[in-house]
Amino acid sequence: MKFQPRASHFIDGEYVEDTNGAAIEVIYPATGEVIARLHSATPAIVEKALNSAKNAQAAWAALSGTERGRILRRASDIMRERNYDLSVLETHDTGKPFQETTVADATSGADALEYFGGLAASLTGEHIPLGGGDFVYTIREALGVCVGIGAWNYPTQIACWKGAPALACGNTMVFKPSETTPLSALKVAEILVEAGAPKGVYNVIQGYGDVGASLVSDPRVAKVSLTGSVPTGRKVYAAAADGMKHVTMELGGKSPMIVFDDADIENAVSGAILGNFYSSGQVCSNGTRVFVQKGIKEAFLKRLSERLDHAKIGDPMDEDVSFGPMVSENQMNITLGYIEKGKAEGARLVYGGERIERDGYFVQPTVFADVTDNMTIAREEIFGPVMSVLDFETEEEVMARANDTEFGLAAGVFTNDLTRAHRIVAGFEAGTCYINTYNLAPVEAPFGGSKMSGVGRENSKLAINHFSEMKTVYVSMNDVEAPY
Ligand code: NAD
Repeated sequence: MKFQPRASHFIDGEYVEDTNGAAIEVIYPATGEVIARLHSATPAIVEKALNSAKNAQAAWAALSGTERGRILRRASDIMRERNYDLSVLETHDTGKPFQETTVADATSGADALEYFGGLAASLTGEHIPLGGGDFVYTIREALGVCVGIGAWNYPTQIACWKGAPALACGNTMVFKPSETTPLSALKVAEILVEAGAPKGVYNVIQGYGDVGASLVSDPRVAKVSLTGSVPTGRKVYAAAADGMKHVTMELGGKSPMIVFDDADIENAVSGAILGNFYSSGQVCSNGTRVFVQKGIKEAFLKRLSERLDHAKIGDPMDEDVSFGPMVSENQMNITLGYIEKGKAEGARLVYGGERIERDGYFVQPTVFADVTDNMTIAREEIFGPVMSVLDFETEEEVMARANDTEFGLAAGVFTNDLTRAHRIVAGFEAGTCYINTYNLAPVEAPFGGSKMSGVGRENSKLAINHFSEMKTVYVSMNDVEAPY
């Protein structure tokens, strides 16, 4: 098999296998073909990975930030040099078009390694002068062993978005990719070692939810960073709380995108396409509730349908293809189930709505109009190529409806009225907001959710605070005054 790795796990600087673990079949979503066979981690593998990370941590933290940063930046360079091969692998692992993976996966992972590699040398505490000559200084310390748990939509990116800030701060990591897309994190581990990361600093073990759960509950683990759904987030957060561990939770969403009738329609349609159909709709921050002001509703729908006719659907390795399959048969069936609910609950199907008759797990880009706030497709995260278009008339009305959800990951507004744009984003209950664009997530900017969509932030300088903690040192320059 062309994409079969040397072994399932990467621990202590090398590939490791334990065939006693449950089977994991890796399927190319465009054909249904098995492209690799791996094994879920056994307790012995979990033990080996955690021991390795624990043993490596003190020496890694004792390096200077410059030295750690140099390794991360070298890894970033290697990732960029191998972008073609890594993108081919990512397309086979996820089914996402090569046209996307070549610009959004290994490159985004490399951005994170480069950014946090650059920051590593500047991570410091501070000096706080007090009265009478006393002072406090703070020492920024690593947390220890961090666990990263990934979703299947951006496997390389997630492995790096968690690994890069963790390692920059002097932590070590055990990363468990999603069982659906286990291949590319192994490449991240290989590249880090090649770039000079000592053994045990970044380990990858495979497994289903039970392996993730056993990592989260282990007393050696100081921090857990999860990218996944809200139900998984609830379980992982609760288990982490039991051990008083630090957490970052990057969870699901049902984000609103508001299009006012003064918006540039072409840009709004482009934003709606990016926010609903990129990666076949399997993006956490997607703006799947598109509120369109009544005056431009039909013009918006007409232009959207015309533009969707130009989506090139097919073999994701074909560089002209812009819309690929869903990640798995299961995710396809979930999506088709929601499409049936949309029809049954009275939404008007204006585009797509069917499985595509070919090998693999393809669902047409699908648009429903006349969607109302209480329909299932407007309330639940689908994680597939299904857009709901809802009508609105006034700003006050749409603001309240946009926020009327348990989620708070992202939100966007399209308008040419400058003050209204800023008023709207000030009112959004969401972690990441967009004005006249959608779904961009540069490493320089914080990314994360409010409400049920998560806790903490990834990327930017803020991520450093989620992977380190401050030790306070009070220094007295005076005699100690005691009451007796
Ligand atoms: P999921 O919640 O099913 O699984 C996520 C990961 O958690 C997997 O690796 C899984 O094996 C593991 N897991 C499952 N149960 C566990 C447990 N009890 N303890 C520890 N780990 C456990 O999510 P998914 O289907 O892989 O991904 C889709 C979801 O991820 C969507 O809800 C999407 O919105 C979300 N997501 C969020 C972001 C973000 O940054 N906010 C990014 C991508 C995806």
